[in-house]
Amino acid sequence: MKILDGKAIASKMREEMKAEVERLKNMHNLVPGLAVVLVGDNPASISYVRGKRKACDEVGIYSEEYKFDAEYPEEKLLRLVDKLNKNPKIHGILVQLPLPEHINEEKVLYAIDPSKDVDGFHPVNVGRMMIGAPGFLSCTPHGIQQLLLRNNIEIEGKHVVIVGRSNIVGKPLAMILVQKKPGANATVTMCHTRTKNLAEITKQADILIAAAGRPNTITENMVKEGTVVVDVGVNRVKDPSKKSGYRLVGDVDFERVSKKASAISPVPGGVGPMTITMLLHNTIQSAKLSIR
Ligand code: NAP
Repeated sequence: MKILDGKAIASKMREEMKAEVERLKNMHNLVPGLAVVLVGDNPASISYVRGKRKACDEVGIYSEEYKFDAEYPEEKLLRLVDKLNKNPKIHGILVQLPLPEHINEEKVLYAIDPSKDVDGFHPVNVGRMMIGAPGFLSCTPHGIQQLLLRNNIEIEGKHVVIVGRSNIVGKPLAMILVQKKPGANATVTMCHTRTKNLAEITKQADILIAAAGRPNTITENMVKEGTVVVDVGVNRVKDPSKKSGYRLVGDVDFERVSKKASAISPVPGGVGPMTITMLLHNTIQSAKLSIR
């Protein structure tokens, strides 16, 4: 059984990106820039934003961080997005989700200039992804594709079963993997809470992606021998033995499923580091596109 070590692959990719950023600086006097906006004090969001900032520093991407309390008005946030859209030092804008209730998430995400939408959430980029045209691919699904490919796992012709149909993981992943392109060409099935006989479907998977957001959604009786399993879930479960009082687990019963799988991604250290790495990738791409 092989561990799909996202941390190791992300680290290698970041080395390559560091060289690319250096090249852009030397040849074009251009430093890719990312603005990260955080509203509220959701602990998971704070930790994600910290990770993104650290990753930018690691590869030499310039980053700006905007942190506001949970009462920050929508109107001001929209004004900030507009300012960042016009700022030539900024090539990527990321508004950390979820936003507080009083802010219309769609309105804010749609206000980001699609050419700076490095999260790939703007409908223009979602549409481009769907038809296979150039644009920013959303980071988690793109990271999952890279995690598989860089582990030499063939996707073409394989039956990929995705548990989860959210707009940030399940749906875009299905769109990416079904494209008539190298590194894709999969047969994709998407499952959700209204799916009947889930285990019957997951057992047919050559590659099973768990993105449900619930621990133990995938148990050993739901996978066939030799399946490749990617665990996207990040769930906090109480653990008094930890200083923080919790630990992170995925959606898959790792201990038992790993005995049947031919390859499996761990949580943490699987999809998470890949997601951040694809964000850096998109920011660098955006900077390159700004060269005229
Ligand atoms: P989400 O918006 O809550 O969507 C969860 C999806 O899973 C929904 O489509 C839901 O079905 C389906 N689902 C939930 N329980 C199920 C069950 N028992 N059987 C079948 N389907 C089930 O979550 P998300 O934003 O996609 O995120 C999913 C997980 O991935 C979360 O744990 C999140 O923290 C994690 N995540 C990790 C990364 C990373 O970089 N590592 C990035 C993004 C997300 P319905 O549509 O019918 O409700």
